[in-house]
Amino acid sequence: MAESSSKSEALFDFASRYLVAGASGSARVNAAIGRPLYLTHGDGCRLHDVDGRVYIDYNLSHGATFLGHNHPAVRKAIQHALDMGVICAYETEHHSRLAERIARTVPCAEQARFANSGSEAPMAAIRVARAVTGRRKLLKFEGHFHGLHDYVVWNAHSTPRTDFPTSPYVPLEVESAGVPPDIAPLVIVIPWNDAAALQQAMREHGHEIAAVICEPVNFNSGCIPPAPGMLELLRAETTRHGALLIFDEVLSGFRMAAGGAQAYYGVTPDLCTLAKAVANGLPLAVVAGRREYMRVLSPLGPAAHSGTYSGHLFAVLAALASLDVIAEEGFYARIFANAERLYGGLTALFERHGVPARVQGLGARFGIYFGLTTPVTCYQEACRIDNDLGHRFIRACLEQGLYFHNYGRMALGHHGFSASHTAQDIDETLDRVETALRALAPAR
Ligand code: PLP
Repeated sequence: MAESSSKSEALFDFASRYLVAGASGSARVNAAIGRPLYLTHGDGCRLHDVDGRVYIDYNLSHGATFLGHNHPAVRKAIQHALDMGVICAYETEHHSRLAERIARTVPCAEQARFANSGSEAPMAAIRVARAVTGRRKLLKFEGHFHGLHDYVVWNAHSTPRTDFPTSPYVPLEVESAGVPPDIAPLVIVIPWNDAAALQQAMREHGHEIAAVICEPVNFNSGCIPPAPGMLELLRAETTRHGALLIFDEVLSGFRMAAGGAQAYYGVTPDLCTLAKAVANGLPLAVVAGRREYMRVLSPLGPAAHSGTYSGHLFAVLAALASLDVIAEEGFYARIFANAERLYGGLTALFERHGVPARVQGLGARFGIYFGLTTPVTCYQEACRIDNDLGHRFIRACLEQGLYFHNYGRMALGHHGFSASHTAQDIDETLDRVETALRALAPAR
């Protein structure tokens, strides 16, 4: 078994002495095996662990390495930053070129500010919305994840509610100790894809809501696209009530279009956040939006935002290089062709082997709902998954040299492929999944 491998196990023991749970972040622990992978290197779509095992990667740094590991254009960008002397906390022409590039690519992005993580960016966007509107409340959706800061760690991965739609507001469930309960009255949570709940919440609270934040495609619950008209309704309701609409595109950004879900669906928010894929694995996050809103940020306006490492040159140059690759002719045609090959192939295999599992994907990221076979449209439905079957699938795949990640909690998580996965890699994956499913059969 991959998880009983000696070097990995020894490293887990050693790591656990000095790193909490043997990991630098809780999400790195794969709940299906109870520990992280310990790697020597990654290349293209493959990960190499300390035991010499090689895995085709379907996690890709929680979605950050969209172009694949060790991408030559990104390596060159890092070398460029090294040659410039590892300067940090200064501006270069590259910073403004990147902001201009984002403005040309992402519909809502007239101006931008950089940050380091996908937690920081929504935190700053919410602050902008509060500064613009002078209001305090935030409306978010059940099952949508926006990082780990105090205002958003509510009902992202918690127990799904069963009392909708009669009671549209989720009694809040905080997902972390150490968050003051005093914040709860400032957060309203409603189910995703429920137009009536949104309209009711806005009717009752619209006048005190600073921002409505959502993942335009709810990848943190696998892959739950917006119902037809849902994003348009969000746009109309926020405009009507004077609240700002924030699309958190930390995961959806670049996956299905260079301009993200807002370009794909043709609905433009007031502000958006990007991270993960933007710099292909280097720490860069972006808050972007309309100039009239962004100008509340200091020193032009009263809302504080800065950071010593914000817009670190390594990441800025990596982002410029990554956006060049994404802009290449035929890039998204290849992504969509491989998406069809992979999602269609997996669905056919699950059917052929009698494994109840639904694959939902859009562009380069997808969810697999074990135990479910009908379309999943909201978090409550998603949470009916068979978690045990999902864990067994991941372990069987690890044996075959395929890496899928399980995040624990409600375990919906998300998977993805990169631009470096070829059609051949996907066919190889499908062959290996078939072997994994055969191995799974006796336990079912
Ligand atoms: N927002 C979304 C939509 C995410 O998916 C994530 C991370 O998965 C975050 C925010 C937080 O990003 P980070 O892990 O960089 O803090």
